[in-house]
Amino acid sequence: MNSQVTNPQTLEWQALGRDHHLPPFTDYKALNAKGARIITKAEGVYVWDSEGNKILDGMAGLWCVNVGYGREELVQAATRQMRELPFYNLFFQTAHPPAVELSKAIADIAPEGMNHVFFTGSGSEANDTVLRMVRHYWAIKGQPQKKVIIGRWNGYHGSTVAGVSLGGMKALHGQGDLPIPGIEHIAQPYWFGEGGDMAPAEFGVWAAEQLEKKILEVGEDKIAAFIAEPIQGAGGVIVPPETYWPKIREILAKYDILFIADEVICGFGRTGEWFGSQYYGNAPDLMPIAKGLTSGYIPMGGVIVRDEIVHTLNEGGEFYHGFTYSGHPVAAAVALENIRILREEKIVEKVKAETAPYLQQRWQELADHPLVGEARGVGMVAALELVKNKQTRERYAGGVGMQCREHCFRNGLIMRAVGDTMIISPPLVISKDEVDELVTKARKCLDLTLADVKG
Ligand SMILES: *Cc1c(COP(=O)(O)O)cnc(C)c1O
Repeated sequence: MNSQVTNPQTLEWQALGRDHHLPPFTDYKALNAKGARIITKAEGVYVWDSEGNKILDGMAGLWCVNVGYGREELVQAATRQMRELPFYNLFFQTAHPPAVELSKAIADIAPEGMNHVFFTGSGSEANDTVLRMVRHYWAIKGQPQKKVIIGRWNGYHGSTVAGVSLGGMKALHGQGDLPIPGIEHIAQPYWFGEGGDMAPAEFGVWAAEQLEKKILEVGEDKIAAFIAEPIQGAGGVIVPPETYWPKIREILAKYDILFIADEVICGFGRTGEWFGSQYYGNAPDLMPIAKGLTSGYIPMGGVIVRDEIVHTLNEGGEFYHGFTYSGHPVAAAVALENIRILREEKIVEKVKAETAPYLQQRWQELADHPLVGEARGVGMVAALELVKNKQTRERYAGGVGMQCREHCFRNGLIMRAVGDTMIISPPLVISKDEVDELVTKARKCLDLTLADVKG
């Protein structure tokens, strides 16, 4: 990248990064060999780098800038709150208006029977919270042996010890001797990658049945909960076959275990409903949230909790858990304003009725590209599977995803690569014209990637 650098400040910032910064999820040696791309500003659905390139942000930052960049109301909300009360904690029987008002605003949009929120600083902390909360819940109910949580291979629930353990990414497990004890994993409902000769509907049932198999293997009396993302995000926008969630619901109804729907990506409108669980008709007991909660303008996460669990927690004495920044007043004020914008501008309704159907229709056009084995998506998330052979789903040796991602960056589009799965999750406010631009650029980058592999 350095060869293209024309702004001397870019080189300075790259050097500062190399000399002093350890960024997340980064191969340091590889980064230092070329220097980071420096993002300096943003507006609407676009970001600019320090070289002045305008780039359509097909990932909404990291699945989070739902209302788009540059919303002055969010700046004002933060500023007002910082002047009034920049910080106070919620420990020791105190509260402040933003935290309780935000709890109510979330309860108003959450599924029926979920009326309380425990706040955290991030999605990872939200998943640490559910791990402790569900084990505490069963202990209060006199069943402390119900400790095991079942997650899924290739699920993502964050990067803390509990988050990585609940998630099913083997590369992450490999660093730091994880998962911790008491976590089990079952197959993911990833038909394109793992469906083999089964039809999608058949594979969806098979993948769901792995939950029942695991419950019987471990013993219902030892299982606290099942955790899953409605649609896996970081794993590669894995949209389960239509048979999957109905079969999971059927299994969950048979056993006395809690259901945790990790809504960190799907929450706050991504699917065209407020929560992914509503899109699928699921009724979880706990929902970790983050990302779209504040549209990423400031860090905040939380767990939305079903009434029955709250009633039990009420009988359990002190819950020895919380964070200095739980319900941080400035973050809560921004989240409140973000929810107000989503509601008053009817952004979620508009996604459902107009822009998501349009995005998905245009996205499907990419399925005819010679590199694309499958184009899929729901609402404002979508994926392309890059393959060598469309019929056999055979991949290119060595992969082409990173190459495609590089072409995208250079041609004004941020599209993320998960192996050879290209994914997007644009701001919910993306217009139809901007969707056209996104799809046109994506096709161009597929062409460039194909030209590379054809030599
Ligand atoms: C991003 C993400 C998390 C972790 O959130 P952080 O704020 O990065 O800690 C957890 N679950 C899902 C589904 C996510 O996408």
